[in-house]
Amino acid sequence: MNKTSVVLASRPSGDPTAGNFRLETRPVPALEDGQIMVRVIYLSLDPYMRPRMTELKSYTPPFALDAPLTGGAIGEVIESKSDKFAKGDIAMGMFGWETISIVDARGVRKLDAKAAPLTYHLGVLGMPGYTAYWGMLHIGRPKPGETVFVSAATGAVGSLAGQLAKLKGARVAGCAGSDAKCSFAVKELGYDACFNHNARHDYDQALAELCPNGIDVDFENVGGPIFHAVFRKMNDFGRIAMCGAIAEYNDERPQPGPDKMFSIIQRRLKIEGFIVSDHMRDMGEFMRDVPAWIAQGKIHYRETVVQGLEHAPQAFMGLLKGENFGKLIVQVGEAPK
Ligand code: NDP
Repeated sequence: MNKTSVVLASRPSGDPTAGNFRLETRPVPALEDGQIMVRVIYLSLDPYMRPRMTELKSYTPPFALDAPLTGGAIGEVIESKSDKFAKGDIAMGMFGWETISIVDARGVRKLDAKAAPLTYHLGVLGMPGYTAYWGMLHIGRPKPGETVFVSAATGAVGSLAGQLAKLKGARVAGCAGSDAKCSFAVKELGYDACFNHNARHDYDQALAELCPNGIDVDFENVGGPIFHAVFRKMNDFGRIAMCGAIAEYNDERPQPGPDKMFSIIQRRLKIEGFIVSDHMRDMGEFMRDVPAWIAQGKIHYRETVVQGLEHAPQAFMGLLKGENFGKLIVQVGEAPK
């Protein structure tokens, strides 16, 4: 039996290109004790994968060259040498960007395929959803009447972050990369206001119009000049949940931070960077709250599902340019009926 994989052919310099990826077909190796063989169904494509394509040491190790890329994924177990899994189980773990993935069963979770649409486990009920939940409710802690700002407002993380702030009674503004996304943010997600950061670059003016009372909580997904403008608008005792800096992931050199850092003291700001994987043991409240809020119609969710493993590199390149609308997923194989 053969498997097809997407491997990292070379490390991108600046924007990734098709030449950084290669499709390969190879025989599937034999299973060892403790491993499972999974027919991959859905792959999650996530911005953090871009920094992993460099050689730089970070909180996750760099992807190896000429090896399949890996990420959060869902598949069907087709062979098992682990007591934890039987053939036919649906499993979620860190699988390769490939049609068939062999992994150690430790760290792989069994899913109930009927509990929720499978793709939700990679999005609103999975890592991105929990990122929004942790960052907004544990760091941002919005209070009724406060103003919250969310960049990448309609993305996998941002869409839930904004809705959670609304549920807490805040006024919520955001930015997104198109008029259609902004319209979705306001009409479907309940944002009070949104500006299209590709249509207007006068960020200070846009924020003055959207957030006339300043910003109390910034849920930061983007970094770069949008963040600098938000930083200038922060109110006394404001909180900034530093979640991501996607506008900087293709940069060869780190961008300078915002100026007037003394204002952190003057305005008594609290700025906290966080990585969701540090908090996985505390998922209980999230797993209780978010499925219930979805069932009650309090949370809306959108995803883009791209068909075919061979399109994963293009889809990933598009993620860094805002071509996804909501959580980006690649469907590699047929979903169970
Ligand atoms: P999204 O679904 O939001 O997709 C990425 C979006 O970022 C794009 O659709 C685009 O939206 C926006 N974007 C891309 N480039 C730029 C740019 N140059 N300037 C402004 N916006 C840009 O991704 P996620 O929700 O998965 O991730 C959002 C952020 O959260 C990322 O920075 C990610 O790294 C971070 N993250 C952090 C985690 C943590 O543990 N700290 C965990 C998970 C994610 P638009 O068209 O609206 O511009």
